[in-house]
Amino acid sequence: PEQKAQVDEGDRSPKQLPKGVVLGPDGKPCRSCTSVSSWFAMAKQGTANPTNISTTTPPAQVTASLDMPADCPPDVEQLGRSAWTLLHTMAASYPEKASSEQQKETTTFMQLFGKMYPCWVCADDFRAWMKDGNEPRVSSRADFGQWMCEAHNAVNVKLGKKSFDCKKWEERWRTGWKD
Ligand code: FAD
Repeated sequence: PEQKAQVDEGDRSPKQLPKGVVLGPDGKPCRSCTSVSSWFAMAKQGTANPTNISTTTPPAQVTASLDMPADCPPDVEQLGRSAWTLLHTMAASYPEKASSEQQKETTTFMQLFGKMYPCWVCADDFRAWMKDGNEPRVSSRADFGQWMCEAHNAVNVKLGKKSFDCKKWEERWRTGWKD
């Protein structure tokens, strides 16, 4: 897609969206592409009005801690944590040796995941990463788990987070930590 994330450059008139707010394909702020802090900043400024989106100002105790009530739609971080939990747990329950059918289905799943992930900027980068010599490695649990860990680390690096030690992916997601 030709969409661009909302940029954080130059002087900001009151009508501009706060830093970190990403627009969706419909031109409206994309909840699952935006952190809760940016979303709340937008709601406070009322800058979503050009698109007439409803951005109900959260109650004071919620804005103070920036905690999202549990029954609200997910922001980019909550969605990400849930998605990684699903993906690593899929790798953890993957067969030690996968049949060619399982390999085909898993590759298809990852490609569709890269198309349908609700944060479109995340999905675009994930597809680009897979295309750039990182096709899913799905022959075995060890391969798939390692590949998933590398995929997650690529996002960690992009976001300026620490890389995870992929030798430990199975302890984190399958067996539990050794004492
Ligand atoms: P997370 O990164 O969600 O990690 C959850 C837990 O997984 C960690 O606590 C740790 O125990 C474990 N872990 C961490 N790294 C690894 C690893 N390499 N292997 C195995 N286990 C690990 N957010 C954005 O803001 N921009 C993006 O472009 C973006 N792209 C994403 C693309 C995909 C495909 C997905 C699934 C998510 C993406 N996210 C993106 C969300 C982002 O990766 C995080 O999920 C989110 O920022 C919350 O981070 P967190 O620090 O709570 O932990």
